[in-house]
Amino acid sequence: MNNTNTVNFAISKDKEDPLECFKEEFYIGDKIYLDGNSLGLLSRRAERSLMDVFNTWKEYGIDGWLKGDHPWFFMAQELGEKLAPLVGANGNEVLVTGSTTVNIHQLVSTFYKPTATRYKILADDATFPSDIYALKSQLQLKGYDPTDSLIRIESIHGMLVEDEIIENMNDDVSLIFLPSVLYRSGQILDMKRLTEEAHKRGITIGFDLCHSIGAIPHYLNEWDVDFAVWCNYKHINGGPGAVGGLYVNQKHFGQEPGLAGWFSSRKDVQFDMKHELEVDVDAGAYEIGTPHVLSMAPLLGALEIFNEVGINQIRKKSLALTNYLIELIESELQTYHFRIASPLDESKRGAHILLEHEHAASICKALKSHRIIPDFRAPNFIRIGPVALYNSFYDIWKTVDTLKNIMEEEQYKTFENTRDIIG
Ligand SMILES: *Cc1c(COP(=O)(O)O)cnc(C)c1O
Repeated sequence: MNNTNTVNFAISKDKEDPLECFKEEFYIGDKIYLDGNSLGLLSRRAERSLMDVFNTWKEYGIDGWLKGDHPWFFMAQELGEKLAPLVGANGNEVLVTGSTTVNIHQLVSTFYKPTATRYKILADDATFPSDIYALKSQLQLKGYDPTDSLIRIESIHGMLVEDEIIENMNDDVSLIFLPSVLYRSGQILDMKRLTEEAHKRGITIGFDLCHSIGAIPHYLNEWDVDFAVWCNYKHINGGPGAVGGLYVNQKHFGQEPGLAGWFSSRKDVQFDMKHELEVDVDAGAYEIGTPHVLSMAPLLGALEIFNEVGINQIRKKSLALTNYLIELIESELQTYHFRIASPLDESKRGAHILLEHEHAASICKALKSHRIIPDFRAPNFIRIGPVALYNSFYDIWKTVDTLKNIMEEEQYKTFENTRDIIG
């Protein structure tokens, strides 16, 4: 009787969903938005917090740095505390500052301390290009040739094998930098195990959480991870260009930041304007210059929602959505040569599903013509990222039903199989 491929089944699942009420908080319009893993949607709360902070500029001028409900001078720390439960850290280990790429530069320039015998950085070949560009330039700045000093573990069909990463943690490795969730396949790496193994060998380890922050729970402090970075415009819904985040384990407090600026200073002495930097006592040491206040403001509202719902409920629904998506793809689309390129084991899967198909680019365009928004990843992948806070089981059903029509009626053939500039 519970035929899962019927629209009624999907609607009944939505009725049981405790997060259903949050959908109304977001500006979704008439589309089914499945790209929250690239740019999360605007919520009413994020809109309000942006306008509140904007108005403090109107009202206070320069005094906004210390006045109002969210004084600008301390906003990076205030937001760090609000993000801390999502990464499993103490409030003063987390800071909202920079962007993912700038924060990689900041923390790698701080924690990469090569010696004559231990100078290599271990990464992987499936990570996001910006991470690799940053690692290469950090190696070059310290006088190393990345062709020798950057090790990239090879992925197989977009997946990494932890045993192989561990086998490559040799005596010449100084630092490891890996993604928590791979941006294409959505595979989760076992951060706890990798951190333990790195530390057994005296290697510092950091993670890029761009595709896991706000989607899965983290216990960075308990796992003893050295440092982490992430962006806040994907699952966190902080808006285009939202200021990023970083975590530094408290055992490293008191170090000189690799990239210093006047905001790296202890806040109580910053305005003494001395030329000797007194480094801030906690993660504040990694702030560089004047914070981008208006690009942080939506996070005040966006994070309120996460702290109200809790990451465990979000993870539970996210897995229910991706499991349902996999089930429908397997039962409804089996004749159309799609390959699910994400882990089928839910404990290894982040919050999105990657689908491989030779006509992926034109299929994505056909989906968009039906107001369903996935994203395309070259050369032939469709990435579908249902978001626990604003996607429903109905959205998943409708997406697969539409895909089935697109294939059955060969609608994709009316679109060119090439990507746009973005996507
Ligand atoms: C989105 C993403 C980035 C983007 O970096 P920015 O500096 O925010 O542009 C970097 N790395 C990974 C793994 C990402 O998913």
